[in-house]
Amino acid sequence: MHIIEGTVILKLPEASSEVLLIKNLYLSCDPYMRILMTQGASSYIPGSASHSMKPLTGYGVGRVLESGHPDYKKGDLVWGITKWEEYSLVSSDQTLFKIEHTDVPLSYYTGILGMPGMTAYVGFFELCSPKKGEKVFVSAASGAVGQLVGQFAKLAGCYVVGSAGSKEKVDLLKNKLGFDEAFNYKEESDLNAALKRCFPEGIDIYFENVGGKTLDAVLLNMRLHGRISVCGMISQYNLTQPEGVTNLANMIFKRIRMQGFMVSDSYNLYPKFLEFLLPHIREGKVVYVEDIAEGLENGPAALVGLYSGLNFGKQVLLVSRE
Ligand code: NDP
Repeated sequence: MHIIEGTVILKLPEASSEVLLIKNLYLSCDPYMRILMTQGASSYIPGSASHSMKPLTGYGVGRVLESGHPDYKKGDLVWGITKWEEYSLVSSDQTLFKIEHTDVPLSYYTGILGMPGMTAYVGFFELCSPKKGEKVFVSAASGAVGQLVGQFAKLAGCYVVGSAGSKEKVDLLKNKLGFDEAFNYKEESDLNAALKRCFPEGIDIYFENVGGKTLDAVLLNMRLHGRISVCGMISQYNLTQPEGVTNLANMIFKRIRMQGFMVSDSYNLYPKFLEFLLPHIREGKVVYVEDIAEGLENGPAALVGLYSGLNFGKQVLLVSRE
């Protein structure tokens, strides 16, 4: 099959067993995409720096139109690494999963059942080993990853507090997502005091999404043998000069374990993750809030909106309904 879009013709390479032609249905707006636009980004994801005029690379959900791989056939639905365009040639040797469960919204495979969901699962359960009764703090708590970390913490029997950047997001955390407490970090003149108010006995687990001043204040409030899962530092991604963190010595006194991770190292856990999460979704025990923009032309604004908190939940881009 040849897809003709303007002057672009997409066709499968001859004798290719790795490449699929897909129609992109949903694309995922993810904070890491900003890092890929920065010089030297290949240290984050090797070979991925994108300053050229080529389409952005990112996660998405698509329908297979033509397949050179025996495991995929025309009509299959897939999620994984694709490009910001209507049709893409994707390689099955990159991150690519066949979608087997379609009783949930397809867009979920850009979020709760895709890369951000796996991020919350790995970063919370695998890195932090939560125990019942422990006190958990999550930053960027209403976003794609944070809203799940909070709900996972509740499933694990923890006390969980989230920070977010508006009253509406704080209401969402407390009234819909089951957080025990939440605060608007933009309205707190003293983050240390806000954390002391929410955690008079200190924090056992911090799920780090933002970095900067928040991390500094958290370090003052960690308990002995606390764990910090370093998932992301979005407050730093647009800075030419990253902020310094001054309270790191607390890691020594409090014997804190602080560990960074890349979700892509743990995709072998995807079947275990689905087995854990799908029943919770079907029973309504875990919910997911999405913010869906429509049309490729609205993609750049949706992506840029992440860095000022315009998204309300997981930011998705709908490219085509079928
Ligand atoms: P979100 O859906 O949470 O969107 C980003 C949110 O970050 C915004 O909505 C905004 O929320 C908040 N934010 C933006 N700028 C700032 C700032 N200067 N200070 C504080 N908060 C800010 O994104 P994701 O859930 O997809 O990603 C969350 C984090 O996880 C990111 O740091 C990302 O890079 C990281 N990540 C890491 C992965 C890994 O493998 N390690 C994989 C996936 C994500 P608000 O209105 O509350 O400020």
